[in-house]
Amino acid sequence: MAVSEILLVVTMDCERARTETRDDASGPPDYASSARWIAAYDRLNRDRGLPVSYFIHPEAAVAHPALFHDLARDGACLGLHLHPWKFGDGRWKAHFGGMTAAEQREILIAATRIHESALQQKPLYFRPGTFSANDMTYSVLAELGFRGGSISAPERFYRELCAIWIGAPADPHRGHAAFRQLAGTLDFADMPLTVDLSEILEKNGRRFCRDLRPDYQEADYEAIAGNIVDQIAARAPAVPVINIVTHNDNDYSNLDERVPRNFVRALDAVFKACDRRSIRVRGATMATVADRVLEAPAEAAGLQTVGIIHGTRTASQRSR
Ligand SMILES: [Zn+2]
Repeated sequence: MAVSEILLVVTMDCERARTETRDDASGPPDYASSARWIAAYDRLNRDRGLPVSYFIHPEAAVAHPALFHDLARDGACLGLHLHPWKFGDGRWKAHFGGMTAAEQREILIAATRIHESALQQKPLYFRPGTFSANDMTYSVLAELGFRGGSISAPERFYRELCAIWIGAPADPHRGHAAFRQLAGTLDFADMPLTVDLSEILEKNGRRFCRDLRPDYQEADYEAIAGNIVDQIAARAPAVPVINIVTHNDNDYSNLDERVPRNFVRALDAVFKACDRRSIRVRGATMATVADRVLEAPAEAAGLQTVGIIHGTRTASQRSR
């Protein structure tokens, strides 16, 4: 079926202040800037009819309870973000995908407790730092009551960060209990980072596809957005989504700065690319995407997207 509408999900990872982690890590210099920049990002998106999905590191939730309360009241979705090595007293010296199921469970329970006490709501959505995850992650999240997350970054190959997603599904799907690069039947919806699959780039041994993040020094956002929309139209997934990531480390009130300017350029490029193809753009949150994925019965999703069932190849098997 032709794609008539794409859900545009703008997200922000709200990191711990760099004074508490490492100078070269992602994150704001301090929490006063963080609060200002998050509020500015929210305004910028709301002016365009786009509700924001936040993935919040526990310490940032503790730093900004009133701000996130107000943003949620106005339609934002509040999820959990976690870089284990940045969390708490620093005793977890790992990336999320480098942890066992027991360790993932333990750190998620600890982080959830802090999020819940700061923001008076249980986080139902999760994004691991640098999209670092392993085959246990979907099962652990589903078991702990999470409904969804932005877990995967298709084609990413960052071995030292335990983030390998070669061949992963490009569109929202239920997580698989045993193998993360397959769509499965868990009651957990993954909303992959949306990437331009037309080219796999290589840098310092890392491989990745470009996405619409505003951080690039140089990027042809119009070309990336056009390719992404063409690819979604060709795949015609059950839940067509563009998922864009950014961080609370740029001043979104200052459109003279490169990153905020790139962000607006990326948004404009998405709207134009969709408009040219007569596709409607609708702002949506992670929660809406999870609703849409989980409302389809698990069995059907499994049969449709898992390539081989009982030795029979289905038509939708990916050949890429
Ligand atoms: Zn992060």
